[in-house]
Amino acid sequence: MRTVRTVAELRAALAEPRRNGRTVALVPTMGYLHDGHLSLIEAARKQADLVVVSLFVNPTQFNDAADLDAYPRDELRDAGLAQDAGADLLFAPSLQEVYPPGFTTQVRVDGPLTDTLEGAHRGADHFHGVTTVVTKLLNMVGPDLALFGQKDAQQALVIRRLAADLDLPTRVEVAPTVREPDGLALSSRNVRLAAEDRERALALSSALRAAQDALAAGTRDAATITLAARAAMTPFDVEPEYLALVDPEDLRPVGSVDQETLLAVAAHVGPVRLIDNTILNPNGRH
Ligand code: AMP
Repeated sequence: MRTVRTVAELRAALAEPRRNGRTVALVPTMGYLHDGHLSLIEAARKQADLVVVSLFVNPTQFNDAADLDAYPRDELRDAGLAQDAGADLLFAPSLQEVYPPGFTTQVRVDGPLTDTLEGAHRGADHFHGVTTVVTKLLNMVGPDLALFGQKDAQQALVIRRLAADLDLPTRVEVAPTVREPDGLALSSRNVRLAAEDRERALALSSALRAAQDALAAGTRDAATITLAARAAMTPFDVEPEYLALVDPEDLRPVGSVDQETLLAVAAHVGPVRLIDNTILNPNGRH
């Protein structure tokens, strides 16, 4: 695996394989790779001839300067993990390479997809930062396929919308959330949890499980399921920033879980803001 830092080097590295008809997959990441990222790289490996992993902590999608400062970084470690998972190229551009002086363009997905949930709490600018950098990365790499995680369910919907609206020639695929054995969704931010907060972080996955249990027991009413999910967080002394049952396509709130519904939760645990989600399926199987 090679590490490249400029768009010119990246395009030079991809030119010949592309001329030879080889397909390219992109896995965009902010680094500090964990098994969730690696599952995306492995899925990419199975579907494309060449796998590019991008590593860029994008400042424009952070609404909190302290969160950006504290975001874990370890490029050497990431390079080893990406290589072992089957990546061919690590694209690790500098801030100046992505946002050269004079940069002023934004790519925005507007409306409920970016206004609600994460958009309501972090500000819609968070998603504008995401869609701008993802558009740039897709233009830099020109992949046939790009992979994203269901862990960031709203982001995945926003990127699908972006790709459809702008006729992007890249197929967008979303892969399942990878969890710790005890249920905690893997996140680069988990390393910032102190031992006690690591326990409390189980509040989120416990809420999701309580909602699944309520559904399995026959409850369909969204308010009742939400109440059960919130109650499961109380013993951990964690208050959700939001906990919402919404349509998994347009993110509008639902009153009753009569078809597949997205349950999304966000909460601060100590100094770390965590998100998680699950799909509730009233017709069994999940
Ligand atoms: P990040 O580095 O956090 O921006 O994440 C890069 C990609 O990995 C995004 O598409 C995330 O949705 C995905 N991802 C993050 N955590 C997980 C996880 N636990 N399971 C699966 N995918 C994940």
